[in-house]
Amino acid sequence: MNTPPSHVVVIIGGGAAGMTVAALLKRARPDLDIALVEPSDTHYYQPAWTLVGGGAYDIAATGRPMADLVPEGVRWLQQRAVAVDPEARTVALADGTRVGYGWLVVAAGIRIDWDAIPGLQESLGRNGVTSNYRVDMAPYTWACIQRFSGGRALFTQPQMPIKCAGAPQKAMYLAADHLRRNAVPADIRFALPGQAMFGVPFYARALDEVVAHYGIAPMFGHELIAVDGDARRARFRVTEGESTRETDLAFDMLHVVPPQSAPAFLRESALADAGGWVDVDRQTLRHVRYPQVFALGDCSNTPNSKTAAAVRAQAPVLAANLLSAMEDRDAVEHYDGYASCPLTTSKGRVLLAEFGYDGRLMPSFPLDPRRPRKAYWWLKRSYLPRLYWAMLRGNLGPDWHRERSFGDALPGSLRP
Ligand code: FAD
Repeated sequence: MNTPPSHVVVIIGGGAAGMTVAALLKRARPDLDIALVEPSDTHYYQPAWTLVGGGAYDIAATGRPMADLVPEGVRWLQQRAVAVDPEARTVALADGTRVGYGWLVVAAGIRIDWDAIPGLQESLGRNGVTSNYRVDMAPYTWACIQRFSGGRALFTQPQMPIKCAGAPQKAMYLAADHLRRNAVPADIRFALPGQAMFGVPFYARALDEVVAHYGIAPMFGHELIAVDGDARRARFRVTEGESTRETDLAFDMLHVVPPQSAPAFLRESALADAGGWVDVDRQTLRHVRYPQVFALGDCSNTPNSKTAAAVRAQAPVLAANLLSAMEDRDAVEHYDGYASCPLTTSKGRVLLAEFGYDGRLMPSFPLDPRRPRKAYWWLKRSYLPRLYWAMLRGNLGPDWHRERSFGDALPGSLRP
């Protein structure tokens, strides 16, 4: 059997996580032999799609050519990985070739299961059916909001985990704000399988106030299971205690966030845990069974909120621990589960939810993070995009997050 070409480090995925790790490793060791497996021509700054859907960002500014981002000296294999064999230390590519590795970094992101909801694919882009989770649909979200002349606007959230758990409701607040400013009568509903607006109770209570401010009706225990775009009807499975039933709801606009899962080639590999995610230690990001393998970002099973903000905290930890492992030394850095979710509560204010493992509050600033602020809108719209593109080049910027505590009482004004 032929020996496949081999690299000291192979990175699968050139998204937020893979590209940042490639840049950090090259900075630390310019001579390091790295190959990056990434099929796409364009790299997208996905967090801005929320703003595009709210008419506050240009979609063209969210993409950059992948070729301009791959660090100098990194070998870009423009291919899709289709299998990983951690015993043979090889990655199989879509063109039938294989590549060997000394060390593997898995950063292939999350899969959005657009087909999991019958009728969704064929409905998108027409009859008011949209999703900020697709680059070509985010501008349509804004078109739908502008055209909305009254009636029912439905927003849905699937079972967790998804990337950016706050994004389904961010889209809704931007729509609610626009409709309110323009005095358009709207019956806005938020359908979600869970029983709370957010996974961290501290923030969930503040978001209850935001929802109440807009007169939005949360539909807890509701999971979208089918869409009929032509009839403008959505079907839900409703869970109430032990019992389930199905119900139909008419809509004039429907914003869908589909269920999400680990990429199939990872789910089917020996790297996966029972849920399909790459099974790594939640602090060191090193695989629990295959010490030559590390993983970060949306495809790993670390129990943090899947966000680019988490990637920014994980990437330097992974790079340091990988370089340490290459010298046969123990892990030197530990990831604390940090993630951030800038909730656009209106066009002009953001509630900056920052937290770590087990819901520990980790704000960057010593201010009550439950209060939506104008300064955080500027952060979301102007600063974070710049920080992101710099991160991909290995410039991580300042990091002020730290564990802080706040009283239970909600701050006085929660005006979104
Ligand atoms: P990605 O950046 O998605 O990159 C994965 C890469 O892997 C892609 O380039 C893909 O082409 C590649 N890939 C996939 N399969 C293969 C394969 N088989 N072989 C090789 N390569 C492969 N995060 C925040 O921090 N704040 C926010 O406000 C925020 N808002 C969001 C809003 C929306 C609408 C969306 C969609 C996301 C948002 N996120 C936000 C989440 C953030 O974008 C992701 O968590 C982040 O991009 C994860 O980085 P990643 O590298 O793991 O995955």
